[in-house]
Amino acid sequence: MRFGKISKRVLVTGGAGFLGSHLCAALLGAGCEVLCLDNFFTGRKANIIPMTSDPRFEFVRHDVTEPYNAEVDEIYNMACPASPVHYQFDPVQTVKTSVHGAINLLDLAFRIKARILQASTSEVYGDPDEHPQREEYWGRVNPIGPRSCYDEGKRCAETLFFDFHRQYGTPIKVVRIFNTYGPNMSLDDGRVVSNFILQALRNEDITIFGDGSQTRSFCYVSDLIEGITTVMERSGDAPGPVNLGNPSEFTILELAEKVVSMTSSRSRITFHPLPADDPRQRRPDITKAKQLGWSPKVALEDGLRETIKYFRGMV
Ligand code: NAD
Ligand code: UDP
Repeated sequence: MRFGKISKRVLVTGGAGFLGSHLCAALLGAGCEVLCLDNFFTGRKANIIPMTSDPRFEFVRHDVTEPYNAEVDEIYNMACPASPVHYQFDPVQTVKTSVHGAINLLDLAFRIKARILQASTSEVYGDPDEHPQREEYWGRVNPIGPRSCYDEGKRCAETLFFDFHRQYGTPIKVVRIFNTYGPNMSLDDGRVVSNFILQALRNEDITIFGDGSQTRSFCYVSDLIEGITTVMERSGDAPGPVNLGNPSEFTILELAEKVVSMTSSRSRITFHPLPADDPRQRRPDITKAKQLGWSPKVALEDGLRETIKYFRGMV
């Protein structure tokens, strides 16, 4: 990670969540002062406790749907539930978090002249008919389905970021994150990697939705955090968007078999109905991120080994 000589003060919204907590730790490690903001909807105190003894770390309990004031140099807007189970729990709040949250934080960035990065998502591509997905692809998104609160909320947040950039000159960065996994995911996260690992460790049935032929590209968290800070630091005035993810693509059945074998589990693989609008395939084209000098390094098996170790300590 490359930072200027002067230590920065950085606001991380959603800082108690899975990605936010790793980002806070990385920023502290790079000499920044970190203001971590979260409402603990899906975030956990356990994720930030190791940082609370550092005098450069500060926590504020706040909901991004309400305006917020602070003096910082940079803002990383990570606040938003990311797991389908969590974002569909209160879909109206999910839209508010993305849309009102973006407005409040962009207003703040405008007032204090801070650079602001939006954690967007591969979900803006929906169920894509272009593969792999390039940033130029506009997506194929259902505006009224059960995933729309997240997908359209994130799409509208991107719109707001680019309109603030065009209208007010706000220095923005938009990254589109593809499926990321690793330690600090919640046990009840509901996403596929954490579900399969927990099920395998407990010798419970592995629940594949559909026939398991749908694909995802899984990025280990350390790679992703390096990618986010690279975009913030090295992309100059370019607003993005930049895809961040690991282009190695696996079927969900392959993932299930890998997890069962790596945990020496007695779990059976079982098949269940596919949720509505579940994307069939997902793989990032990371040409733009590579031009900034970033590419993921951690292979799926190595990342899974670390994540399994973390979850073993939790069950
Ligand atoms: P997470 O659920 O672990 O973390 C989200 C954090 O935001 C939690 O700490 C939660 O309490 C907080 N939060 C939610 N609503 C809030 C609100 N209204 N006000 C303040 N805080 C709020 O999820 P994550 O995987 O760490 O995702 C972080 C960000 O990255 C999200 O914006 C998500 O959309 C994006 N993202 C993640 C992935 C992934 O695979 N992990 C993929 C694409 C995009
Ligand atoms: N999935 C699954 N079993 C689970 C959880 C998820 O088969 O217990 C599937 C899900 O239907 C999707 C893929 O795994 O096709 C990835 O799901 P996840 O919720 O992790 O993220 P998404 O990329 O869909 O947002």
